[in-house]
Amino acid sequence: CGIVGYIGLQQASPIILDGLRRLEYRGYDSAGICTLDEGVAQIRRAQGKLLNLENLLYDNPARGTRGVGHTRWATHGRPSEINAHPHRAGSIVLVHNGIIENYISLKGRLQDLGHQFSSETDTEIIAHLVEDHYRDSGDFEQAVRQALAEVKGAYAVAILCIDEPDKLIAAKLGSPLVVGQGKGEYFVASDIPAMLSHTREMIFLEDGEMVVFTPLAMRFSDLAGNPLTKQSKTITWSP
Ligand code: GLU
Repeated sequence: CGIVGYIGLQQASPIILDGLRRLEYRGYDSAGICTLDEGVAQIRRAQGKLLNLENLLYDNPARGTRGVGHTRWATHGRPSEINAHPHRAGSIVLVHNGIIENYISLKGRLQDLGHQFSSETDTEIIAHLVEDHYRDSGDFEQAVRQALAEVKGAYAVAILCIDEPDKLIAAKLGSPLVVGQGKGEYFVASDIPAMLSHTREMIFLEDGEMVVFTPLAMRFSDLAGNPLTKQSKTITWSP
């Protein structure tokens, strides 16, 4: 039910945890995080309170300056560590808010292609769909677009690719997602308070829009790949 993503020069995991804490009001039953550390995906997930995830990270820190985090409100698949996000398929790691309505037919098709699923969630099929296209083309951005064109339902997603650690992709349709623009760093989250201690420059994604971050730039486009120009707004209120 909450998403936080970060790409920049700072350690991602404390920033993401803090952001997730500020999204706790949205409700959740489990939480998870993935950072990229020199080509390795550091995934930690825990059922229950954020404190459980925090304790995991204390014992086994997830280092890296890019990452995504999630608090889950289960819609498909019971609350458990296995069903907690992020979900990974090959090089692709993804967090998702919302519901994929056609996941059963997509899952069947992907299973026929040899994909093996490890959770009961609707979300995991998006990771596999992106991975399937990525394996074909080697183009992360295009793979995300192709996958999102096939899913029906509501989503906000933040996606990492282990082979392209300098990229973070986010997109939305029907679930909220806001971009925070820092200096040499970018944030993406379900709501403003998750990022407000880092930046007040926010860009509101509309349905059908996608953003590609690198540590030095961000690019907006629609799902067909047409570039978009977006204006930032300065948030003046305090949480
Ligand atoms: N439908 C997804 C799941 O059950 C995402 C739920 C959410 O928005 O947290 O895992």
